[in-house]
Amino acid sequence: MSANLYEVLAAGFPADRGKACFRLPDGSALSYSALEDGTGRVAALLKARGVAIGDRVLVQTAKSPEAVMLYLATLKIGAVFTPLNTAYTESEVAYFREDAEPRVFITDAVAFAREAAALAPVRETTARGESDVASLIYTSGTTGRSKGAMLTHGALAANARALTTAWAFTGDDVLLHALPIFHVHGLFIAMHCVFLAGASMVWLAKFDDAQVLAGLKSATVMMGVPTFYTRLLENAAFTRDTAAHMRVFICGSAPLLPSTFAEFEARTGKRILERYGMSEAVIITTNPLNGDRVAGSVGYPLPGVELRIAGGETGGIEIRGPSVFKGYWRMPEKTAAEFTADGFFITGDVGRQDADGRVWISGRAKDLIISGGYNVYPKEIELVLDEMPGVIESAVIGLPHKDFGEAVTAVVIGACAEDDLIAAARKQLAAFKVPKRVFIVQDLPRNAMGKVQKNVLRTTYADTFS
Ligand code: AMP
Repeated sequence: MSANLYEVLAAGFPADRGKACFRLPDGSALSYSALEDGTGRVAALLKARGVAIGDRVLVQTAKSPEAVMLYLATLKIGAVFTPLNTAYTESEVAYFREDAEPRVFITDAVAFAREAAALAPVRETTARGESDVASLIYTSGTTGRSKGAMLTHGALAANARALTTAWAFTGDDVLLHALPIFHVHGLFIAMHCVFLAGASMVWLAKFDDAQVLAGLKSATVMMGVPTFYTRLLENAAFTRDTAAHMRVFICGSAPLLPSTFAEFEARTGKRILERYGMSEAVIITTNPLNGDRVAGSVGYPLPGVELRIAGGETGGIEIRGPSVFKGYWRMPEKTAAEFTADGFFITGDVGRQDADGRVWISGRAKDLIISGGYNVYPKEIELVLDEMPGVIESAVIGLPHKDFGEAVTAVVIGACAEDDLIAAARKQLAAFKVPKRVFIVQDLPRNAMGKVQKNVLRTTYADTFS
């Protein structure tokens, strides 16, 4: 067997290939044999289009089983799967086409699979080594140009194996899949566990409340971003009974509020399992499946991951381990700048590790506010604000200020008043940490993975102190 990730994943497919891989909302299913066969045919069409080993297959398509076939077919022939967020506009896509220089650009996976239907499936999988690139994942690029993180066959296989073990996936599992598949969460983390265990998926095109509630009835595991869980909690039909048979609810891609964790436990009796990862390293830490899951902590480094904090008790999180990416596509200087001399990747996240080994994230390094020469960690202020009466969620940013350099500013969802929050914050925080302004809003801007877009907030409120 070569290190080709497709071969690794297919070795986990169930012996009975008639078993459902995808269970669709209309009650139909698609078996593993259909997946394998479709993958082989799509591989044949890719080859017919001239796609060779190492070529980029650029994809911007709706979520469908055929899109999964396209992913697996790309791996199978040793090409490089390069998915794009479906929200990207034509002019944004133009950048990726120029940067990735793909052999093909596919915008409709269903039509592509239909075209492949008459071809004889490719049976053999192209041999690949551990360090060969399997996928290029473009980072969301909130600062500067989006970078393509090169993930290798070996890195993805290592992470998939570690997660399948950590979360104890078996062939009896049914994963509720409502995530997009242009991002590592839905594409690698969720699906690789399913394939390695030969499990099934309730396959939803997106998070639709009614479909998720119906799908949960036959699921055992759900993976989601924090907004999935807040949406479930807003729905009165989501009860203790709905969740009673679920084995585990896993959450990540953005911080889970301790209040959501608590409310979820009060409603269902279950503690959400939070984990931490990123495009450049897939999953890095996880709360334990068996053991205490602590609200606000992202848990322990996965086996094989070395994690350290640079520069003090709270500082930059640096990691080294089998799942870390190979570098940024065609950006050797950028890559070199983000690794230390001894080979640790500088994640850009700031956090700490407690005596027990648990990791706590306090935000992104670039979100650090320097006000009047003092460092202010937004997360510390957010945690204080989130505890105040009427506050649902807060985002703290630094805005340009002629005296302080940056002024601490809060944007808050909730039924509360600016003056009251500032007065209450004064009682708990050193003066330099107290927000100089608080804006009360209905909603915070978020990306597809539920992350609050602080860059958007910084632009919106840029002139506040000018
Ligand atoms: P992406 O590469 O789009 O997956 O974004 C990765 C970033 O998301 C990480 O560097 C973290 O800043 C953030 N992130 C992911 N999971 C968590 C989590 N459980 N808690 C806090 N931040 C997280």
